[in-house]
Amino acid sequence: MLKRLSNFSLKMFTVLFPSEKPLLFTGVNSTIELASLARASGSKRPLLVTGKFLLKLELLDRVLEHFKNEGCEVTVFDGVIPNPTYDVIEDGIRVCKENNCDSVFAVGGGSTIDAAKVIAACCSNNVGVEQVIGLLKVKQPTLPFYVVPTTSGTGSETTNSAVISETKTHQKKFVVDPKLIPSAVALDANMLKSLPPKITAATGMDALTHAIESYTSVNRFSDAERDAKLAIKLLLEYLPVVYEDGNDLEARQLVSLASFLAAYAFNKSGLGYVHAISHQLSAYYNTPHGLTNAIILPQILRFNKSVCADRFANLERMLSGVSIGSDEQLADRFIERVDTLGQRLNIPGGFKELETKHYEAIIRNALKEARSFYAVPRLMSPAQCQDILASIAASSGTETNQMAHAT
Ligand code: NAD
Repeated sequence: MLKRLSNFSLKMFTVLFPSEKPLLFTGVNSTIELASLARASGSKRPLLVTGKFLLKLELLDRVLEHFKNEGCEVTVFDGVIPNPTYDVIEDGIRVCKENNCDSVFAVGGGSTIDAAKVIAACCSNNVGVEQVIGLLKVKQPTLPFYVVPTTSGTGSETTNSAVISETKTHQKKFVVDPKLIPSAVALDANMLKSLPPKITAATGMDALTHAIESYTSVNRFSDAERDAKLAIKLLLEYLPVVYEDGNDLEARQLVSLASFLAAYAFNKSGLGYVHAISHQLSAYYNTPHGLTNAIILPQILRFNKSVCADRFANLERMLSGVSIGSDEQLADRFIERVDTLGQRLNIPGGFKELETKHYEAIIRNALKEARSFYAVPRLMSPAQCQDILASIAASSGTETNQMAHAT
């Protein structure tokens, strides 16, 4: 079990175990450049980790062809599902070992990248999933590990963590270790063209949540603040553009850069109550991570406003270029911007799956997660958390789960 960490210890953890940004390739040919780098670095038998849907989309044809032309023997593991479970990882470990793979090349969203991280760590350390769950449990470096994200949201391509669902206890478990950061990453807008508008919106709101939670964390690092602010600016401007036209490659590229920057920021500063609550809801109801965050975000902005008005006001000044008005007024305008973005992206106000019989456990686990991991600007009581859950349940919503994993 992870021990409770104080804000000071969290900051020390970041200082003592710094997270470097992975080597970054960007642009519409960058997936092939990344595959060339993997080959040049010695990969001969990569395990390509992905999901069945992406394989069907033929998104991987070019990179598979490239590896073949380079003389590599690729093994495809397409068993990743959204919110991957221990069983998925154990399957991936088995396939990797049976085929004597020497590296891992992940192409997919956060679920795929997280699964690939843990497979790469377990194979090089010759252990099972249980043994790497927790903080700094990855003893040896992972297999050489390369990533092409096909969603722009989780930023898992640059973070030191992976989230795996424990099916029996309805809990998301974390593997946190700087060794999980990939060797190199390709941000390739071509791999995002097929992302449907609903998933574009939900994952983009996940990135926005990362940036805002990082920026309002009391763990402050100047580079994380800079990256979070830039990510917020890019997402507010370009997320609606890619939602409306998924083929706008320039905008896709900028949103994917924003997601990368937001994740780098939260990897240093930490997250907050949006994620703490969202993780419990996804574990109970299998709701998609990004959409769940998007629904909770406005509630937490309002909850935090009493202590974060100056931070929200700073963001509003950056976005509007206007500094007239009190912090309070500017903070309200920033929150309204986030509301407006949610409406433009057709994010529902709540969701129907929530059952009152689960509230107690959800609240307990959410508050424990926040206490253990995040340097939140304002502490939440169980009663306040219950009010937020009740408000989400009462708001009109679609069947989030159905929207969720439509693919
Ligand atoms: P996802 O990976 O679960 O993918 C969502 C859906 O989108 C899937 O059905 C997938 O097949 C589809 N999809 C992905 N790319 C596509 C494309 N280009 N075209 C068409 N369909 C595509 O979604 P996600 O939001 O990227 O990842 C969520 C997971 O990431 C959760 O398990 C969450 O807990 C985890 N997460 C991890 C971190 C981290 O730092 N490691 C941070 C945040 C979230």
